[in-house]
Amino acid sequence: MKNLYLEQVLKQRLIPQPKEISFQDGECLIQDGISVELKTAENEEEFGETVAELFSEYWYVSPEIKLSHSKTAEDFLEDQYEVQVTRKKITLISHCSKGLQLAMKTLRQLAEPIRGTAFLEGFVLQTCKIQDYADSEFRAVRLDIKPYNDLGDVEKKIRIVGALKFNYIFLDCSEVFPFKSHPAFAFKDHVKRPAFFRALLDVADDVGITLIPCFNIFHQASFCEYDIEEHKVLNFHPEYAPLFEPGGWSWCMSNPESQAVVADLVHELYEFFECPDYFHIGKISSQEFRFCRSCAEKSAEDLLSGQIAALYLSFDENRPRFVLGKEPSDPDKKVKIAFPGDILLELNEGEKIPEGVDCVQYFQNENSVLADDAGGTVFDLNDELLPISAADIAWNGKGQDNYSTDAFVQVKLNAVADMEPVSHHDF
Ligand SMILES: [Zn+2]
Repeated sequence: MKNLYLEQVLKQRLIPQPKEISFQDGECLIQDGISVELKTAENEEEFGETVAELFSEYWYVSPEIKLSHSKTAEDFLEDQYEVQVTRKKITLISHCSKGLQLAMKTLRQLAEPIRGTAFLEGFVLQTCKIQDYADSEFRAVRLDIKPYNDLGDVEKKIRIVGALKFNYIFLDCSEVFPFKSHPAFAFKDHVKRPAFFRALLDVADDVGITLIPCFNIFHQASFCEYDIEEHKVLNFHPEYAPLFEPGGWSWCMSNPESQAVVADLVHELYEFFECPDYFHIGKISSQEFRFCRSCAEKSAEDLLSGQIAALYLSFDENRPRFVLGKEPSDPDKKVKIAFPGDILLELNEGEKIPEGVDCVQYFQNENSVLADDAGGTVFDLNDELLPISAADIAWNGKGQDNYSTDAFVQVKLNAVADMEPVSHHDF
């Protein structure tokens, strides 16, 4: 390409940055009947429908799609794609529909409205060739749902995260989930209706994201923030007091009745969210322990292992992988807190994690790392603005600081354009 500045401008639009990209001189108008070839390993009819729907959703046109089998794509990873844009044709190469969806997300970031008119006449792409794949199969953010979040807020966040090519969200929603198995745990002033969560499942599916529910099986049993003088269960149902440690913050881990309630609530969440591969069982922190007289007779290690084992045994062989959150060991803290939990945390360093736990989420500054076969980084989405480089760390393993804020704003706008929250869900 002759104009190096234009090349730089176009590259900066792409978040995360593709592995290889080359621009040529020339443009491709995205118009009705544009020729689009899909070369995949699986070559299924429905891929054509998926891509046609995305052309209509992104650029309001209907393409002429041709499907063919690609021998090369048989060796592609699921999160790998190639794009070729020439003046007259767009070619997408991938193993299956995941790669096609990723390729379309890239083209959506690259496309811009035709210039020189007051009203939209269509979109245009620079001719180019892109080869790209994800370094990690697990690219996650953590998202809390609070009582004051409405569906539109949460939908927007999921759509933006999807546009940035993340593929998992750890969804912390137990405070607002309408539990049916134990209605005392569905808080009438805070609870969202089931349709709210069904809508989130649809949105997540639409943008290529799997929702992983979280439920802390150790602490946060008040379903409130730490130090808020409120207990969502005991304030209305003091009869449940034996399920909790004195003070109410932790579950009573030596009480089998408490473990049975925890298992019911976990199963309900897991099944509602369509039995994903993972389930987050919460974060252990020695600071958060409380003891009743019965728990005080056991070691912290026995209590935690027993709590995990009880949940483990409540599942059949189709159970999800349990993810356990773990704060980094803090040497200063150990001196200050005379509590056997710190010994346990030390024991759990590296490979020595309690039986039944499949992955550990290690917290490092604002990010955390999920240690399992796939590995991956989990970013916190509680802040309104996800750091621009987060998508690149997730996709390419390292941050990229060449983006302008405009690039991120553009991705956000694209992601939420034409969003119609709630409208197609019957409340
Ligand atoms: Zn207890």
